[in-house]
Amino acid sequence: MAKKFHSVVIGGGCLGIASAVSISRHLKRVNKDPSSVCLIDKRVLGGGLTARHSGIVRSANADPYAAKLAKIAADMWLNVKHIWDVELEADRFGAIWIAKKDKHGTNKKWDKLESEMRKLGVRFNKIPFDDALKLVPDFVKVNEDEVFYYEPDALQYDPAEVRRALYEAVKRSQISLMEKTEVLGFKKNSLDKISEVITSVGSFECENVINAAGAWSPTIFAKLGLAIPVSVEPVYVVNWLTSLAEKNVAMPIIADYVNRAYFRSWRDGEIHMHQPRKRAIQETSTAFAENPLAMLGADFINDPSNQAIGYSQTRVYEDISKKRFANVAQTVFSSGYRSFFDITPDLRFILGPDPKINNLCHCLGSGQAFKFAPALGEMMAEFVVDKGPLCEIGNKFSISRFDNDFMENFWKRVSGTQHSLEIEGASL
Ligand SMILES: Cc1cc2nc3c(=O)[nH]c(=O)nc-3n(C[C@H](O)[C@H](O)[C@H](O)COP(=O)(O)OP(=O)(O)OC[C@H]3O[C@@H](n4cnc5c(N)ncnc54)[C@H](O)[C@@H]3O)c2cc1C
Repeated sequence: MAKKFHSVVIGGGCLGIASAVSISRHLKRVNKDPSSVCLIDKRVLGGGLTARHSGIVRSANADPYAAKLAKIAADMWLNVKHIWDVELEADRFGAIWIAKKDKHGTNKKWDKLESEMRKLGVRFNKIPFDDALKLVPDFVKVNEDEVFYYEPDALQYDPAEVRRALYEAVKRSQISLMEKTEVLGFKKNSLDKISEVITSVGSFECENVINAAGAWSPTIFAKLGLAIPVSVEPVYVVNWLTSLAEKNVAMPIIADYVNRAYFRSWRDGEIHMHQPRKRAIQETSTAFAENPLAMLGADFINDPSNQAIGYSQTRVYEDISKKRFANVAQTVFSSGYRSFFDITPDLRFILGPDPKINNLCHCLGSGQAFKFAPALGEMMAEFVVDKGPLCEIGNKFSISRFDNDFMENFWKRVSGTQHSLEIEGASL
């Protein structure tokens, strides 16, 4: 007979791991079997897009619900021992956002964001040029025609340490971990529930299924007749090796909207950079028009052998970096790779119960999931174990919004005159 689990979590990225650990811990709290959670990944834990994140945790976000959730998540990161029963240290040098001054000497959009963040308790404040100068190392160029906002509570993690901690959390919470196991399909019962998850090593009965398969979701859930509107957008990463003698000041994260790039200090004396997700609807829409996942699935584009970065792309990044860093011209290309953001048409999460399959809950990140991981894990536990306040935020990101006219209107906006997703500042 098939083994039965309270919850089967599909996908062992940061969201799947966080979900499985939280569900297991919540089950224990209500005197149920914590080992009744199965976490399945077709490869290894943290081997999907989670292998590529920059370890940045920050809260300012133009979507108020995402900002609220990010603030909750940032507080959880600082208290992660309580959530995952593991120790994790973060660098706490904050983040500086930089934009060109408009003709009024400010950035109206970010001024508005500043006042909205204040209402949510997110510290995101405009700072004068002289303060910005003091916050960054000597080799970072800041200019009088730029405007600066400071988010002091932004955190930087070492992704390798996070991955080790997540493995430890899985071990401690007694989850049934199934790496190198592929979910191939499902059996559905007459109540529109998934009764069995069919995998490459056999079938498992389950009460609940969590979809944390990110960019792979469309292929997996097409077998249930569900259309999950997730696609991928390429992004390149470069790490520059700099002189350790120059690293005289701790460097905050630099969210450089003048040159459209994020920078942070990385491992041992490197500057890590990549560009943000595209925001204009016409750019975002190409990911859905081409629909690369429909043909070959995220496997093709996420294959490790398909992730090299070319010379010309490195030069583009070098040109961008030289505008912000005085020391990059004499520096060394250390490493670089291509990766992908998993994006939805409106660049927002897909969270919570599926309206068509009664025991399926989605947990997809929309290109910026790492920072939310502990909060989304707790949210999934609240959805399937003991309803709580995070469910209310999760319901704001329900997949049901893509029903009816959403995609039709999306394509109308692509061909129309209003091209903004109004989500500038929803970043990383
Ligand atoms: C360059 C870059 C930098 C980033 N920096 C940041 C950052 O600083 N901060 C931040 O918050 N976010 C950042 N992100 C975003 C972040 O990396 C992703 O949003 C996040 O890792 C997605 O996690 P996930 O768990 O949803 O998906 P994934 O990590 O992609 O996990 C999905 C898993 O599903 C598994 N899977 C697929 N199909 C099956 C199947 N059939 N059966 C079983 N398992 C299956 C895959 O193997 C994979 O492990 C960055 C992204 C990139 C590309």
